[in-house]
Amino acid sequence: MKTDNISLPCTRVAFVLFLLIFGSGCINQQTKNKVHKTENVIVVVIDGPRYSETWGDPNHTYLPRLANDLAPHGVYYTEFYNNGPTYTNAGHSAITTGNYQEIDNSGKELAQNPSFFQYWLKNSRESEFKAWVVTSKDKLEILSDCQDSAWQGTYNPSVNSGVGGLGVGSGYRHDSATMERVLDVMATHHPKLMLVNFREPDRSGHKKNWEGYLQGIRDTDQYVYELYQFIQQDSIYAGKTSLFITNDHGRHLDDVKNGFFSHGCSCDGCRHINLFAFGPDFKQGHIEKMKREQIDIPATIAYLLGFDMPTGQGDVMSELFQ
Ligand SMILES: [Zn+2]
Ligand SMILES: [Zn+2]
Repeated sequence: MKTDNISLPCTRVAFVLFLLIFGSGCINQQTKNKVHKTENVIVVVIDGPRYSETWGDPNHTYLPRLANDLAPHGVYYTEFYNNGPTYTNAGHSAITTGNYQEIDNSGKELAQNPSFFQYWLKNSRESEFKAWVVTSKDKLEILSDCQDSAWQGTYNPSVNSGVGGLGVGSGYRHDSATMERVLDVMATHHPKLMLVNFREPDRSGHKKNWEGYLQGIRDTDQYVYELYQFIQQDSIYAGKTSLFITNDHGRHLDDVKNGFFSHGCSCDGCRHINLFAFGPDFKQGHIEKMKREQIDIPATIAYLLGFDMPTGQGDVMSELFQ
């Protein structure tokens, strides 16, 4: 009798432990292997606007499309940051690899760690035509590869960067030409993972052209809207595609160094950037005040598409999800 009374609770405890250990393992595995509606992810990096002229402007004067047409369908962050080096190649590689690093800014150096493109291509066994880097800045061809000897030259996405899509050394092309390439690649290949870079408003900022800088924000706002419309009207993309719209860095505050002409320091103007996220798994019409940063984007993409990114340092932005 006595033994039975003891062994029964013991069996129960063992059973509960079994459920906790193996049950939660199953749930985690399922989460990884697909509970999300998202099948495609597109990241748009608008080069170098300040928060103060974009989401930080209460009237959203230069973001009419994002603020009026897209915001009701997605989430924008009021506290999103580049917490690493605030120049183009470092900001972009933080977004693709989940690591901040100092890196040559002219296109001569690859990131140290593999990108979400490489992890996803290896995991999914998809063709290179399902992953694309399309950028106005030629030097961003570097986003297609990394220095890690276990990865370099393998699982690389397709790339179309700079003038004529010819990559490092070809120069920056106009954003309207990049937009044409983006829509062409989407219609032809239907990439499941893509990163787009627009050179404005950074380029006009460096030219010390305030009006051009503001126009660059307006123009990229319009391109993002056209991309959003394409997704909504395309039978392969509609209802299955998540969009992240962000920046590589901001620009100096007016009273720091040469103000909006440049960037590269740790001032709030350089660090405080934008993130808007839209997709079938995300909240709609939500303003998120949680502090997040660039390296959290690849972690969230890996979670959405169900692959591991062990070298990424960021966290999944779970607050985004419905
Ligand atoms: Zn710049
Ligand atoms: Zn600064």
